[in-house]
Amino acid sequence: MNDNWIALHTVPRAGKTLVFSDQAVWRRPLDEFGVPCTILEDIKAEIFVLPLDEGVLFRGRITGSIALPCDRCADEARVKLEHAFDEFEPYPAGVNLLPEDEAKERAPRQRAAQRKGGGRKSAGGKDGELSGADVTTDADEAVIRNSPHGQGVEINPAALAWEEFSLALPVKPLCRENCLGLCPVCGRNRNLESCDCGTGGTDPRLSVLHAFKAKA
Ligand SMILES: [Zn+2]
Ligand SMILES: [Zn+2]
Repeated sequence: MNDNWIALHTVPRAGKTLVFSDQAVWRRPLDEFGVPCTILEDIKAEIFVLPLDEGVLFRGRITGSIALPCDRCADEARVKLEHAFDEFEPYPAGVNLLPEDEAKERAPRQRAAQRKGGGRKSAGGKDGELSGADVTTDADEAVIRNSPHGQGVEINPAALAWEEFSLALPVKPLCRENCLGLCPVCGRNRNLESCDCGTGGTDPRLSVLHAFKAKA
């Protein structure tokens, strides 16, 4: 994701919406990190980027549909993605981004945007909690930086999109809510067929003892 840096001065004051619909944006890191994820319906991220006085506001949404291996039976678990987020990334230390008068002019706009953003976050419930402090800290370096080429501040919305995408993934995806999983003894998929391993009332680990008993 290192090739996705954008100079912030190319983003208009009023903000700009960036759309990531090229599946390579997702496919590349998925492969890189070895995530066994199949894309069923194109993953798309729309991110509104708004430069403010103290940082950049990223307001976005990720949609799409994927399949992951079920946590219990390894069968296909379909996951519908519908993830909204609001992230504020402060400018890196030591940046003087705007001339003073321009900064003043922009101040009221910033407050309005922050109010709006804050409101949505608390109302968002689950999403708001997910995009908590630890996540933001983690993303800071990857999403905003001082340009190594003297181009001022640069942002990496694609990296943020990836961060948010990984947040949207379920920790334990299930093929169905009541998935029975695999039999720990014979490995059969209990959703598809039953086996005798569990029904005999004999813990297979004790079978050695039973055999011993029978002999005696
Ligand atoms: Zn399952
Ligand atoms: Zn079994």
